[in-house]
Amino acid sequence: MNDQSKIRVVGAYQHNLKNLTLEIPKHELVVITGPSGSGKSSLAFDTLYAEGQRRYVQSLSSYARQFIDQLEKPAVERIEGLAPAIAIEQRKGTSGGRSTIATSTEISDYLRLLFAEAGQAYHPQTGKKLEKWTIDQIADEILSHPDGQKFFILAPLVNNEKGRHAELLERLKSDGFVRARMNGKVALLDQLPPLEAKKAHSIEVVVDRLKVSRESTGRMMDSLELGLRLGKHVVHLLWLDEAGHEEIEAFSDRAFDPDSGTHFPVRKARDFSFNHPSGACPTCHGLGKILRADASLVVPDPHLSLEEDAIAPWKRGNKGIAAQYKSLARDLCRHGKVDMATPWEDLPEPFHELVLYGSRNKDDRIERTSVKKGEMVTRFESFEGVIPMVERLYAEAKSPLSRRRMQSFMNEQTCPRCQGARLRPEILAIVLEKNNGNESLNIHEFTNLPISKALDWITDYTPPHEALNEVVNEIRQRLQFLNQVGLGYLCLDRQTSTLSGGEFQRIRLATQIGSALTDVLYVLDEPSIGLHQRDQERLLESLVSLRDLGNSVIVVEHDEDTMRLADWIIDLGPAAGPHGGKVMGLGTPDQLAANPNSPTGRYLAGAETISLPKNRIKAGPDWIHLKGASEHNLKAVNASIPLHTLTCVTGVSGSGKSTLINRVLGKAIFRHLYQSKEAPGQHEGIDGLELIDRAVIVDQKPIGRTPRSNPATYTGIFDEIRSLFAGVPASRIRGYTKSRFSFNTPGGRCETCQGDGLLKIEMNFLPDAYVTCDSCLGLRFNRETLEITYRSHTIADVLNLTISEAMDLFANHTKLSEKLTTLHRVGLGYLKLGQPANTLSGGEAQRVKLASELSRNRPDHTLFLLDEPTTGLHFGDIEQLLSLLFSLRDSNNTLLVIEHHLDVIKCADYVIDLGPEGGDKGGEIVATGTPEEIAANPKSITGQFLAEKIGGTALPSKYSNKSSEDLFS
Ligand code: ADP
Ligand code: ADP
Ligand code: ZN
Repeated sequence: MNDQSKIRVVGAYQHNLKNLTLEIPKHELVVITGPSGSGKSSLAFDTLYAEGQRRYVQSLSSYARQFIDQLEKPAVERIEGLAPAIAIEQRKGTSGGRSTIATSTEISDYLRLLFAEAGQAYHPQTGKKLEKWTIDQIADEILSHPDGQKFFILAPLVNNEKGRHAELLERLKSDGFVRARMNGKVALLDQLPPLEAKKAHSIEVVVDRLKVSRESTGRMMDSLELGLRLGKHVVHLLWLDEAGHEEIEAFSDRAFDPDSGTHFPVRKARDFSFNHPSGACPTCHGLGKILRADASLVVPDPHLSLEEDAIAPWKRGNKGIAAQYKSLARDLCRHGKVDMATPWEDLPEPFHELVLYGSRNKDDRIERTSVKKGEMVTRFESFEGVIPMVERLYAEAKSPLSRRRMQSFMNEQTCPRCQGARLRPEILAIVLEKNNGNESLNIHEFTNLPISKALDWITDYTPPHEALNEVVNEIRQRLQFLNQVGLGYLCLDRQTSTLSGGEFQRIRLATQIGSALTDVLYVLDEPSIGLHQRDQERLLESLVSLRDLGNSVIVVEHDEDTMRLADWIIDLGPAAGPHGGKVMGLGTPDQLAANPNSPTGRYLAGAETISLPKNRIKAGPDWIHLKGASEHNLKAVNASIPLHTLTCVTGVSGSGKSTLINRVLGKAIFRHLYQSKEAPGQHEGIDGLELIDRAVIVDQKPIGRTPRSNPATYTGIFDEIRSLFAGVPASRIRGYTKSRFSFNTPGGRCETCQGDGLLKIEMNFLPDAYVTCDSCLGLRFNRETLEITYRSHTIADVLNLTISEAMDLFANHTKLSEKLTTLHRVGLGYLKLGQPANTLSGGEAQRVKLASELSRNRPDHTLFLLDEPTTGLHFGDIEQLLSLLFSLRDSNNTLLVIEHHLDVIKCADYVIDLGPEGGDKGGEIVATGTPEEIAANPKSITGQFLAEKIGGTALPSKYSNKSSEDLFS
């Protein structure tokens, strides 16, 4: 059987998959869903994509093919009908800091081309329009004069330069030229007296003498061409009338300022790139920022006087050097007639200027005194200034140490030359102009527009010649795709390294739609992450357009709207790990909803829902008040966060949620509690920080980046286990300590793989791959270590246990068993203790972190900051997560959660809704209150979606027992 319309998977057993055989319709939108850990990624990525990728690599060069055997073959008997596969992941590649949305979508390549071809140049200093003529345009200009008028074509060779220029004049003669215009007068070359060497001269050679004639233009064109060549892109026309009046006109085939005679080189596309020396601002080398000494770091404490070392760079450990600076300070004070013991802040402004920036002129020289051979010597010296001195010492530093010392007085400031635009002034003076003539943008201004605005602009723009329509189209289409996937609020020059995983994935999605490939298998991982319901619709449209181009689109997804739109759903389950890996239901959304055996189907049918909490904690009386937050797009936001609650921060993408919570609040709290160096985003102040003892960020970042970290090491469980192993009699006899059982230090570990159990293969253009170590066969320890057993398990056996299995083995060990139970409670019982951190999903990593927080069980009041904890979670998982969050809240903590999932929002005690839109049009608080209050607020977009979810009924609210006010109301 060979059905062309289906992908047939036979006998898939990757990870926990239970020998699955199934058919997946091609050229359709297929959703793979199921609880976290049920095997969705194992099927979508590790089986379908991995095999599609193998086949794709096979079609590449022989160089690439040599790695195929090392690319692990997925555990599947066979797959029929598979197309080349492309994964659109959320993980960011290793693109450097200079990569932006514009560069990663190729928009910048087309933009640079467009600016080079269609840009109108202006003089970077005077702002005058620069003219550029083609030969034909110069000829037309000539022919607009009356027939028969006499004119000369001149090539300017010397412009006001001293010298005899004898060699040049000789060469002109020998090249057959007869006349030249010398300092404004036409003369025969033969009859020229020698030029005065000490004077400046201008020389234009007469290329041709002509009369305007429409009939014979051939000679005129040849002469113009020769003139432009000799005059290095400039040609002069000397017009003569009957009365003997002369008039001179200058033309250039390059951007040209006729007043000064300067012309600018023809621009190539690369000149518009800050990555290329011909385009990069010479001051900051295209970074837009430079390191400069900062007065507030140079004088960190203005209460100090010069006597007390107010100037920090002059405070030195070396006694000799310190004394020299002291004597310099003394001389400066004498010069400025100020007291060396006066605090810096009380010294006069001109004196500050002198010390910081140095002498301005000769009168500003300092009288220096020194003792030479027992005699006082005085001399006058101009003073460099501390700020230039720090910058000089930084540039001249020979050792990393002294460089770092100087760096501590410097910080990054916007480049004064380009104001952060990263390009040369003459490049920034080139603009695209609209036909109506009153709208123009340079390339920096263009890439600084939000994508939706850039799209409007270019849609409204017609290039000066038709040949460029194609280029404009390429830009317009790409912008359209980006806008379509809901990224209209981002700027083109936003660095990709600052994007969220979801935003990055959507950029890749837009790029793929733009590439218009067909018959490809696309595999996506939760594209709905980070998207508000409102933006979700546009994303779904783009998945559908990818399908309609003739591709198979497989998404791993939990989002209900995506499932309802899918052509086909694969529901995996029933639970996680070994208890999952089976197909629970298969078919169209309607078929699945009618299938009582499919848990997802039951949710779709509405038979199971996440219920509202029985009561809510009333907000207050303890609050943190954040005042005047204005980082990024925030509009002087005042936000109040009720403590001892579960509070959700909501709003459409780009409305400012992460900026408010992570950049401003989170960083400010970390600085307050832990003196963290990172400066929080702009805000005026915060009240109420004294009410919290601790703050913890529980994000989806990996718990470690290498196979060395794992759930056991992260939670401290492995530490306990190693102590147990060191305690068994056999260890004591051999003198094995705890460190013997570590794979991080030499001694007990396998030295071939240094305890990794894996060997890393670096593949030039693909991500690193890992293969099992052939020496320890993946056990990570050497033979002697593995001879030690605890209840007949070696240390390697223990790492291979699931958390549930480990609970049995260590049931008698209180400390261990507590920690293991907590991991089990957050739904991770199926995880292996030693499962490498880099194979955990974001959601799993986040729950490991939550569990280790839960098991600490500390009495202090902790503020937990969570960013979309529902990522990777299925309906059932979400209930589990919620009960976890509630139990953290009920043990005297505060939870602040950025979330889009309505099932979580509806369960929150309090909601802060940002908006109304993304980017410039967002950054305000639209609504605050209970979910019911938000749902009833017509201004809130979130409220509209929430209203559908919870209907109108209000929940009883449990009065916070802390609020005396409430008890009496
Ligand atoms: P889902 O995508 O449904 O959350 P996964 O396919 O990621 O589930 O995981 C299914 C099971 O396979 C889980 O028990 C998970 O821990 C395990 N697993 C995933 N990746 C690996 C790996 N690289 N090595 C070992 N086990 C893995
Ligand atoms: P949300 O979390 O609600 O999706 P963000 O706080 O990420 O919104 O973004 C709010 C605004 O700030 C957006 O216009 C976004 O483009 C901008 N922004 C976010 N991070 C940065 C950054 N690192 N640099 C410049 N602009 C940023
Ligand atoms: Zn610069």
